Amino acid sequence: MKFIADSMLGRLAKWLRLLGFDTLYYPHIEDSLLLRIAREQHRIILTRDTRLVKVRGIREHMLLEDNDPFNQLHKVITSYDLLPQLTEKGKIFLPPSVRCSLCNELLKEIPREKAKQHVPEYVYTSCSSFTQCVTCGKYYWTGSHQHNLRNKLSELLKLT
Ligand SMILES: [Zn+2]
Repeated sequence: MKFIADSMLGRLAKWLRLLGFDTLYYPHIEDSLLLRIAREQHRIILTRDTRLVKVRGIREHMLLEDNDPFNQLHKVITSYDLLPQLTEKGKIFLPPSVRCSLCNELLKEIPREKAKQHVPEYVYTSCSSFTQCVTCGKYYWTGSHQHNLRNKLSELLKLT
């Protein structure tokens, strides 16, 4: 399942990427281009724009009326059945990030040594595998950037 988010949904796009979903997002994009990309790449349009969804021939889309990015995330993952898995203890299980939250690019595994200079020392000592975005160079490791997301998801799904 692939998405394209309109320019008002930057935070939602970031969270979806952290969950591993292919989500395009451009801070500035013309409606016509957004619609064309959605059509050509078979992407579901996520939008806050009531005007946009009235365009004739718009393909699959979801209008998000709530202004809060976490409520938006909740609506998307429940509507499309993308809820995260739960561990035996009923906690949310998030697999390691596979996609850059900034670029939507897939992450590449890198040798541990290469990450040494670029991540906090405690992270280097406690983590065994590291990945990096080939586009922006951002480093990722198990659990990185997901803590806040996991907490918020627990709250949204009323697990806490
Ligand atoms: Zn990146």
